[in-house]
Amino acid sequence: MNATQPASEEPVLILGGGLMGLAIAHQLARRGLAVTVLSRRRSEAAGFVAAGMLAPHAEGLSGSLLSLGQRSLERVPSWVAQIEADSGLPCGLRTTGIVVPFRSPEERDHYPTAAFGAPLNRDQLLQEVPGLGPDWRAGLLFAQDGQIDNRRQLMRALESACVDRGVLFQEGVEVQELLRENDQLKAVRTRNAEGRITTQPCSKAVLCSGAWSAQLLPELPIFPVKGQMLSLQTPRGALRRVIFGPGIYMVPREDGLVVVGATSEREAGFSEGLTPHGQTTLKEGIAALLPEAVNWPPMERWWGFRPCTPDESPLLGASPIHGLWLACGHHRNGVLLAAITAELLSKLVTNTTALSNPEQSLLDHFRWDRF
Ligand SMILES: Cc1cc2nc3c(=O)[nH]c(=O)nc-3n(C[C@H](O)[C@H](O)[C@H](O)COP(=O)(O)OP(=O)(O)OC[C@H]3O[C@@H](n4cnc5c(N)ncnc54)[C@H](O)[C@@H]3O)c2cc1C
Repeated sequence: MNATQPASEEPVLILGGGLMGLAIAHQLARRGLAVTVLSRRRSEAAGFVAAGMLAPHAEGLSGSLLSLGQRSLERVPSWVAQIEADSGLPCGLRTTGIVVPFRSPEERDHYPTAAFGAPLNRDQLLQEVPGLGPDWRAGLLFAQDGQIDNRRQLMRALESACVDRGVLFQEGVEVQELLRENDQLKAVRTRNAEGRITTQPCSKAVLCSGAWSAQLLPELPIFPVKGQMLSLQTPRGALRRVIFGPGIYMVPREDGLVVVGATSEREAGFSEGLTPHGQTTLKEGIAALLPEAVNWPPMERWWGFRPCTPDESPLLGASPIHGLWLACGHHRNGVLLAAITAELLSKLVTNTTALSNPEQSLLDHFRWDRF
């Protein structure tokens, strides 16, 4: 499938080419709109950092965030099928299920999403995750939760699918200012990699600048929560299920790589790089969860910034500026929520497909001014 943008049509600008930006650009292009992605730095996107768990139940979400997560989880297979068809690339979606271990059956039974999982005793837990540490006496198996290889496959497939659908990319271009008249978006001021400042007229844009979104719109209560990660190489098949322990998780990919995460550092701001404390925390977490894994060789270590809000839920839909929509603040569930975010936002921006009543009332929970 190849498409080019109509030369005369003013494109919808996507401000940020991370996971949300790519997912929304792709859906808008599929609906026939001209789309341009302005991306400051592809490699800093949390979309390339995340562990890729699709885990509304294992994460113990509740209320409207759980509903949003469940709706997104339902959509993931058809969303991935679209991306794979448009790009010709696999996204690495796996239905491995996720096991959450607990120190006691009482702790397990009080987990917010316990009703959605299969309860496990210690023996059953060991059948699901051989070698689990001795502290874990009970568990929940969420067979419906899964994972996707965002870092190596999904992001790349989305980029390819976007280009194939005619999306234009401006990489190395930072949006510096949103220009408005009477609260209507008129243009964005950008700076490219060579330092050239340009004013790009635009009446429709989606703000998807992840943890940096408040730099463009200070009204938004978004702040970074740094996460450090590492990966281990195992003999293939050594770990079948994702394990989601308190403070640490292990996500087995198809090729035997296990992604381990993550620290959650609210005080770190945008400070880049690994820290000895962060990496030690991960190592101690591995030893407590799956002692034999401390002998598996580390392959890679990396970090990134989750876009967090005061209630750890995203900001979706209208913004204080007409013509500017929000898709930011997905914190630790952005990979899970990308499918539903792209669907809802593309309906809002194209304005040709009305939102259903349940969709509209779901979106109302994620208004930017709810705090
Ligand atoms: C350690 C870690 C583990 C995670 N694990 C999971 C998980 O297992 N499951 C899950 O569902 N979610 C997970 N997440 C969360 C998920 O990665 C994020 O919620 C999601 O990537 C957010 O997508 P985004 O597009 O909003 O931001 P990003 O993917 O960060 O993209 C934002 C982009 O905007 C660009 N940008 C910023 N400012 C500007 C500007 N002024 N002009 C132009 N471009 C700009 C940046 O360069 C960046 O590329 C994890 C996150 C981290 C950090």
